[in-house]
Parts: sequence; C-alpha cells; structure tokens
Amino acid sequence: MPKAPLHIPHSQYSEYCFHGIPASRGIVNGNAIVIHNDLIGDYQEHISIDQIPDELERFSQAVIKSEQQFEHIISISREQFPAMSHILETYSMILMDADMHESIRKKIKEGYSAENAIFHNFNAQKQFFLLAKDPILSERAVDFDHVSSQLLSALRNKIISHQVCEDSIVIATSITPTDIMTFKQQNCKGFATEIGGIASHASILSRSLSMTSVIGINDIVHKVKTGDTIILDGNNGILIVNPTDETLSQYRQRSIEEIQYRASLGDLAHMESKTEKGTHICISANIDSLTDIDEAIANGAQGIGLLRSEFQIARYGRIPDEDTQVEWYSTCAKKVYPEFCTIRAFDIGSDKFAEGLPKEENPALGVRGIRFLLKRKDLFKTQLRAIIRASKTKNVKLMLPMITNVSEVLQTKELLEECKSELDQEGFLYDPHLPFGIMIETPASALDIESFFEHCEFFSIGTNDLTQYILASDRINEHVADIYNIFHPVVFKLIGTIVKDCNKAGKDISLCGELAGFPDATDRLLSLGLQHISISPPLIPGIKRKVINNQIV
Ligand code: PEP
Ligand code: MG
Repeated sequence: MPKAPLHIPHSQYSEYCFHGIPASRGIVNGNAIVIHNDLIGDYQEHISIDQIPDELERFSQAVIKSEQQFEHIISISREQFPAMSHILETYSMILMDADMHESIRKKIKEGYSAENAIFHNFNAQKQFFLLAKDPILSERAVDFDHVSSQLLSALRNKIISHQVCEDSIVIATSITPTDIMTFKQQNCKGFATEIGGIASHASILSRSLSMTSVIGINDIVHKVKTGDTIILDGNNGILIVNPTDETLSQYRQRSIEEIQYRASLGDLAHMESKTEKGTHICISANIDSLTDIDEAIANGAQGIGLLRSEFQIARYGRIPDEDTQVEWYSTCAKKVYPEFCTIRAFDIGSDKFAEGLPKEENPALGVRGIRFLLKRKDLFKTQLRAIIRASKTKNVKLMLPMITNVSEVLQTKELLEECKSELDQEGFLYDPHLPFGIMIETPASALDIESFFEHCEFFSIGTNDLTQYILASDRINEHVADIYNIFHPVVFKLIGTIVKDCNKAGKDISLCGELAGFPDATDRLLSLGLQHISISPPLIPGIKRKVINNQIV
C-alpha cells in the first residue's frame, strides 16, 4: 500500500469551500490525493508503412489486455457488488465494438499511430454523445473517455488503476468504475470530481458502494493539492480545503452522528430484499420531502413508490408555479436515479390542504384528489406539464389519486396529450413513454380493476383510504377509530383480489398505504402475492428484515 501523503498543517492556510452536486451521502475528512487524468500524454502521431503490421498487433494486444482487465473487475463485481456488474459490462461492450475496431484499424493502415487512431475515434464518438439533448445520453459521453484511457494505458503497459492510500479522499477530473472499485478495496473514504452528473456511472456506483462523493466541482484538481486536509460533505455537496480547527471539530461531530446513524441500520441497507426462498420484494419509499429521500437512500430504498406532491403546497404556502414544480420533481428524480420516482398528482381536498376549497358536508366523499384536479384543469395542466418536463431523466412515473372510474383516467390522458404537444412545440424534452398508473383506494376501482388495465401500466393500493371507504369509517375521526382497522380481514380479502387480478394480467402492483409498514402485516401481504411495497423511509430496515426472514414465498 502506498504511503500516506505528508500532512501539511492546515493552520498555515486559509479555509476554502467549494460547492458541487451531492452524489453520495456521508461526511468524511482526510488527506487529498489529486489525480490528474492524463488521458493521452505525448505520443507519436504518424508511423511509417513498415510499422503498420506491428502497430495493428499492438492495438490487438491492447484490446485483449483491456478486455481481461474489464472481465476481472466484472467478475469481482458479480461476487461482491452484483448491482454494479451491468454498468461495467457497458464498458466491455464499448471496448469490443466491431465498428470501432474497424475504423481504428483503418486509421492505423493510413499511417496513424495506434494512440492517435484510438484517441480520435473515441473522441469522435464522445462528441456525438455530448451533442445529445437527452441528459442521460450526454452523460454517457464520459464512458468513451474511460474506455479509451483503459486502452491507451494498455498500449503503454501502464498500471491502469490508480493506487490510493487508506483514509484518503480522491480529487480527480473524472473517475472510472474500475478506479472506484479499487479505491473501495483500498478503504479510500470518498472522492470529488469535476465531471459527472447525478446519473453518471460514477455517481451510481458511489451510491451503491456507500462511498461519499461530490461531483461537478469546477476545476477542483487545480485548487486542491495532494496532502491538503479536506472535508467532503456528500450530504450537501460541499468540499472544504484546509478547514479551521473549529470547522474540523464541527464536521467530526456531524460525521460521528452520521456513522452512528448508519450503524443503527446495520448492513440491511445493502442487503437484497429477498425472501429465504429467493423471491425479490421491491421496497420503495413514500416521500413527503427532500429530506425523506436522503433517508430513503440511506436505508436502501429501491426508488420512490409514492411522492406526495401536495406536500409542496405546505412548503411553498401555495401551489407552486410550473418551473418551481419542475425543479422539485427533477431534484427528487435525480436523487434516486436510476431507480424510479413515482410522482402522484396533487391529492388535495378532504383532510389534506383543503383551505380555500368550498366547505363540504362530507369532504372524504367529496371533491378530493382527481375530482378536484379535473375541476381545476388550469392547476392540473400546470402540474402535468411540470411532471412531463421532469421526466427527461426517464425514471419518472405519473400516478393519479382517488380514482373511481375510467372516465377520470381518460380525461387525464387527454390533458396529458395536450400538454405533450404544447411542450413539443415549445421544444421541451421529456420521456415519451412516461409510465402512467393509478392509486387503488376506492372499492369501485378495486372491484373493477380490469377496466383500467388497458389504460394503465401500474397500480398502487392506498390502504389508508381504501380502509376508510371499505369500512365506511373516516380515517381521521377518533369516534370511529375502533372501526377504522387497517388489519380488518375484509381489507386483506380485497388486497388479495386486486393483487391476483394484476398478477394474472401482468400489471405492476404495489401497496403504499401505512399497512405495508407494519411488520405484522408483511408475511400476510407477501402470501397474497404482493412483491412491491412502498413505505415511509425509517420503516424500511424493519420491513426488510421481515422480508429476508420470510420462508413462505
Ligand atoms: C393511502 O390512501 O393509502 C395513501 C397512501 O395515500 P394518502 O395516505 O396520501 O391518502
Ligand atoms: Mg390516499
């Protein structure tokens, strides 16, 4: 293991703070190791005709060596970090692309050196992806850099992975997944990069490996020196160089709290949510605020099963405008990327944010959820436009609350189409296949779920409301609290029917009511065939434990 860099007393320097994008949670401090990504260095541009056969052979050998490197790292990841292997396989696919090989060979035969041919061909592909308007595609551009740097290193028999020392924090222009895996094995504490988006492979990997990371800090490799003391705050996207004693002690305290919090979760966050018999159960999160998302991620949630969008109204004190909503939804979707983010349209009315609405005798049976939205198409369209715009990360789903009949779905779909064509004209990008689903929280939609199959891709059972409507007892009225019983056998009976119908039709079905968060309900729900539940973030570890111990399904 390399020696730790010399510690330069930080008190001789002033404290600097840099802001980037928080890509993976955690607060760590240590000494910086700055890696300057020198992709190519000096090389001979042209070769003579008699050097061509050797140059072609050099290229072939570099491909073989790089492929072996990727295979090695993929096999480690399959054993230790299975979720990551598909990401690494992408690199192998780029490396082995036959068209790319052919154009590199062609260039070598024209008298260019292998370095020159590799650099220019990969750079051309990279530029092509950089031009993509789709942010997911443009972030893939960096993959070409990773593969070409691997090939160039192999050409020159260089050690491909960077070595870092224990407890260090890496600062680099960009980092390859191979590096990240090596750093993890060397107990490196985290990294900060100049390049990268929240959806970049580096960010995804750092989250799945729980390595603190902050990305997108402009020119950081020239602002930090190897050996500088730094604090990396992956919760807030902050990097502090040469912190004062006071800042260090504040952050040490925060870091201790963070470690204690993680320890309290044990290893559960990283364990697959799988029963003893091997059935995978998706546990996603119910989210009311951005802080909930951080907790959901820390607890290992597999996406957001319910984003209660109406909570923005409390946050902003009004229904926010389109741009504000886009920002909020995009932040949520990016935070959980590549997992999904199910945004539920405003569930306004009844007990939720009913101020300003006409007083009703019986609000739970009145104008709430979809009924309110279809009466206020102006507000509804603003929200639909915002959700469609936020869908460009392609991990957003749209869900409607309080559905009782197909007409509500059809009217919404008409509005959706209207919004999409407006957005097309205005030049906005979005996911054309934005998945569309509904909450099943009224007996009408539960008993007639087949009618919705041709219009919806997914369903989520809202037992909080379903219980009140099945048992005819208001969920917030303490006088009937003994009748409002989410464990009532009839509730389970209806859940069983819904799940059976959906499973038969091959439709995604989840349950996002509070019932799913009770450990006493887990075995029964799984026995009914349910394979996706969405619960409040703090409840995830407890329910995951129940899933892992389940011996029935
Ligand atoms: C439900 O009704 O079960 C549900 C999840 O929605 P909410 O609690 O927001 O009404
Ligand atoms: Mg509900």
